[in-house]
Amino acid sequence: MSEIKLAKKTDANHKSTITLSNQSVIGGKNLFIIGGPCSVESAEQMEQVALKLKEAPIQALRGGVFKPRTSPYSFQGLGKEGIEILASVRSKHNLPIITEVMASEQVDEIAQHADVLQIGSRNMQNFELLKRVGKVNKPVMLKRGLSATIEEFLLAAEYILAHGNERVILCERGIRSFDPFTRNVLDLGAVVAIKQLTHLPVIVDPSHAAGKSELIPDLTKAAVACGADGIMIECHPEPEKSVSDARQALSLLQMVDLVHSLRPVAKAIGRHIIHNNNNLTVISPPMRQANRQVAQKQSVIGG
Ligand code: PEP
Ligand code: MN
Repeated sequence: MSEIKLAKKTDANHKSTITLSNQSVIGGKNLFIIGGPCSVESAEQMEQVALKLKEAPIQALRGGVFKPRTSPYSFQGLGKEGIEILASVRSKHNLPIITEVMASEQVDEIAQHADVLQIGSRNMQNFELLKRVGKVNKPVMLKRGLSATIEEFLLAAEYILAHGNERVILCERGIRSFDPFTRNVLDLGAVVAIKQLTHLPVIVDPSHAAGKSELIPDLTKAAVACGADGIMIECHPEPEKSVSDARQALSLLQMVDLVHSLRPVAKAIGRHIIHNNNNLTVISPPMRQANRQVAQKQSVIGG
């Protein structure tokens, strides 16, 4: 991996951190938690998501407005209207926003409103886009390509770094394999390897890896246990009505419950999960039971 120059770790303590507008840090001692729907669908939806997930608490809100869909006939995202929704929810709730940028022409507008720009898996080797976000003054989260090797992934990050942007976050989101039972294979070996090879923060997205909501909680715990700096989970006020990726979406209650259940895992490896002191939600055993029933119902509904 001799071409990995700027991303390369120089000594065991060499770790980059990225601080966002609300002072939360990616790559530090606190686990960085991102939650939100696959797609921004309406202002009401995003308001419900932000209100509930602040209780978890999450440190950033996700939601796609330009969607890279496999079929040209599927919902393509709300575009400009979606950016306006994200901007208003961001300022109202003081929550940083992460959203995908699919093309160079979208970069300036999204960079004006988002705190982190996401480069999706299908664009991991879109070298012109990588060069373009290398010149932007916002952190970039680069998702691993559908079948990218670790070296290809790190070289893609190297493009962004080499073009001047030092604030790069890597995201493992599963790689394609022969078995469609899970949508992709969550490569936690890559997370461990990348943390050893580079100083860049690594976020794990178990939602696009698993593709099934009932697999997400345990995979997330494994991601935290193996040293991921953060997690990104898709969730929705009414998962079965999600316009994209419904099958993998958690309900908002399940998301709050999941964050709660990560605390002992994080603690065991010396990481913290931020408490929301203003509005701490204590989830009672009956509520956990209700969450499980929702999960079971979802696994029957399918997607
Ligand atoms: C997403 O995060 O919304 C997404 C489309 O993911 P990926 O690029 O990993 O498929
Ligand atoms: Mn999705």
